[in-house]
Amino acid sequence: MIHFNKPPHVGNEEKYVLEAMKSLKISGDGAFSRRCQKWFEERLTCKKTLLTPSCTHALEMAALLLDIQEGDEVIMPSYTFVSTADAFALRGARIVFVDINPKTMNIDETLIERAITPQTKVIVPVHYAGVACEMDIIMEIATRYNLFVVEDAAQGFESTYKGKPLGTIGHLGAFSFHETKNVTSGGEGGLLLINDEQFIQRAEIIREKGTNRSLFFRGMVDKYSWVDIGSSYLPCELQAAYLWGQLEMAEVIQEHRMQSWNAYHAMLLPLEHKGLIELPFIPEHCVHNAHMFYFKVKDLEQRSALLEAFKAKNIGAVFHYIPLHSAPAGLKFGRFDGQDVYTTQESERLVRLPMYYGLNYKEIDEVCEVLKQWSER
Ligand SMILES: *Cc1c(COP(=O)(O)O)cnc(C)c1O
Repeated sequence: MIHFNKPPHVGNEEKYVLEAMKSLKISGDGAFSRRCQKWFEERLTCKKTLLTPSCTHALEMAALLLDIQEGDEVIMPSYTFVSTADAFALRGARIVFVDINPKTMNIDETLIERAITPQTKVIVPVHYAGVACEMDIIMEIATRYNLFVVEDAAQGFESTYKGKPLGTIGHLGAFSFHETKNVTSGGEGGLLLINDEQFIQRAEIIREKGTNRSLFFRGMVDKYSWVDIGSSYLPCELQAAYLWGQLEMAEVIQEHRMQSWNAYHAMLLPLEHKGLIELPFIPEHCVHNAHMFYFKVKDLEQRSALLEAFKAKNIGAVFHYIPLHSAPAGLKFGRFDGQDVYTTQESERLVRLPMYYGLNYKEIDEVCEVLKQWSER
């Protein structure tokens, strides 16, 4: 049996979780949370980062910070996880879906401008598989129309666009530390990245149930009170402690994933040369993080047959997003701008292969052997 995913576990997580437990400070914003946030702020040169219980929550915070109101429009790809849309729909926004570029499966930046209306407030690029969207163009459009950009960088840990870490280019960014992502904070977790300073203070308030508790702890006010709307958007110390164990080993995790990704790529290249599959495309100015290994076959029928072949060998190969615009909530809360030329068609052709820290060459061989046999059928 080859799993599709195994949560990364590199060794020191238990030690740090136990340390947090024994410190008698296990609620949020303790020593491990601060250590993790500092690590991100230094490594990414980001003005402020805040750990959250999930990427979904980081996106919800972004929607609150941008004061999204009933009727505001938010532009994003339809080929994404539900949270990208949910966080904004929750505030009453109308979701405007735009087609993807089939080469990267990212939002087609050339279609964004025509989707803008007087109600548009935000563009949400999603960096699929940790490969960057065309951020220079997206930021230029946002500046011209006075819009905000929130990067859904859930899959973007350690990836860059023209040398800039994903999540640090838009006004706000969000990472996920779910167990399926490159690093996890014990199963669930996320990070809000604040690149526009005007949002820092209010983000701390929203995250602490609408109180100015963090200012109080820094001695900047002499009592704390309820000053704004908010919720509980901070993870506990046990999650931060688990994450710290992973961040310390980030390079080891990344190097291992990259080796697996490169091994898949090399072994499957002959199939691409025969015109049987399409391998992922990485634009020259993008450095990816081996978050995912996917490829595309001819159509849905071929994919179903191939997934059956993997299943028969107990190999966890899977498909991915069902486009949001055709889902029941997508129909209710959104609209697709223009024609769905690629979103549905490309999503139906895509296959994801097992990819996790600890996957070995023997297993990669086994996975590729199924594909080889399928190609010679
Ligand atoms: C994983 C993921 C999310 C959600 O992350 P959670 O931490 O599970 O809330 C959002 N968007 C994308 C693109 C994702 O891949």
